[in-house]
Amino acid sequence: MAHAPDPNVLRTRLRAARDAAGRSGVDAVLVTPGPDLRYLAGYHAVPLERLTCLLVPASGEPVLLVPRLEHAAAEASGAADVVHVVSHEENDDAFAMAAGLVRDALGGDPATVALTNTMPAMHVLRLRDAMSGAKQVLAGSVLGELRVRKDPAEVDALRRAAQAIDRVHSRMGEWLRPGRTEAEVGRDIADGIIAEGHRFVDFIIVASGPNGASPHHDTSDRVIERGDPVVVDIGGSMADGYCSDCTRTYVVGGDPDPEFVKYYAVLLDAQKRACEVVRPGVTPESVDAAARDVITEAGYGDYFFHRTGHGIGLETHEDPYIVSGNDRLLEPGMCFSIEPGIYLAGRHGARIEDIVTVTDDGGERLDTIDRELVVLD
Ligand code: ZN
Ligand code: ZN
Repeated sequence: MAHAPDPNVLRTRLRAARDAAGRSGVDAVLVTPGPDLRYLAGYHAVPLERLTCLLVPASGEPVLLVPRLEHAAAEASGAADVVHVVSHEENDDAFAMAAGLVRDALGGDPATVALTNTMPAMHVLRLRDAMSGAKQVLAGSVLGELRVRKDPAEVDALRRAAQAIDRVHSRMGEWLRPGRTEAEVGRDIADGIIAEGHRFVDFIIVASGPNGASPHHDTSDRVIERGDPVVVDIGGSMADGYCSDCTRTYVVGGDPDPEFVKYYAVLLDAQKRACEVVRPGVTPESVDAAARDVITEAGYGDYFFHRTGHGIGLETHEDPYIVSGNDRLLEPGMCFSIEPGIYLAGRHGARIEDIVTVTDDGGERLDTIDRELVVLD
């Protein structure tokens, strides 16, 4: 039961999923292990070749179908408090059982079923065979609308995750020094991510010197040199499943290239401006533009070549995306990163990233650690 949301919250989400399915013309939502299952039933299931599937019919009660050996884990998760749990044995046709449970709930065959976006193809195709007449669509279009607005408990969970990753950044001086490799620093950061309260390390980018110009650099055996700018982008997930993601750019052991200092100030201003425009009713593309305009006006527009941010929750990347072309208005409870960057190939780069939540009348940064350029000795 540890870390499962309140059963009443789960029941509300299940009802909302059922209603959203009905509105979308979907007869049943089929949810396999992953964030959707955790969101709806509080069950953090292991993805296996065996079928685990939450069936949410547009009418009737939801059912969780699990392999017999997973039954106890499903019950322990608290899912059994909110849905009926049915087991299949090793020799059962779990896909035929799923089809039968959906048919029983609906009183007939479904015309359209929505499947978890990341369902493995081996399950998609067998469900297609078992429910041959049913059109398959993505569940993201049904469930995304629910997950995109976080309730206050979810925002608090994201705040705890942000505070945990901020504490890791606050310890960077213990680990990030000239003469060490990025990989060595990364291993210490990994330990810090767990020590400061995360359950899992999700990713670690330590991008020193020229590696800083590659936004999705990992770590490498490059030895960090005196005066290097170092982009450190790190995140983990907490026991409740909510994720952290925060970037700071450091300078180690001496003075950096003067041009770096110049564009870092531009970046700091751009990131601040984007955070300041966040409020209900503005578009994600206008938040993106707020950051991009500052960088472009300073002459670095060609060096900021990715979107400004992504939503975050039970996944590190989810809706809403803060990108040009996204004109879906922001609403209270939406949570996303604001992470502009400037990348000079072959030289160095910088990025500053905070998670921001939309409040009733503005935005609040959940990451609060200092964003001014930190020079570590
Ligand atoms: Zn990040
Ligand atoms: Zn991010």
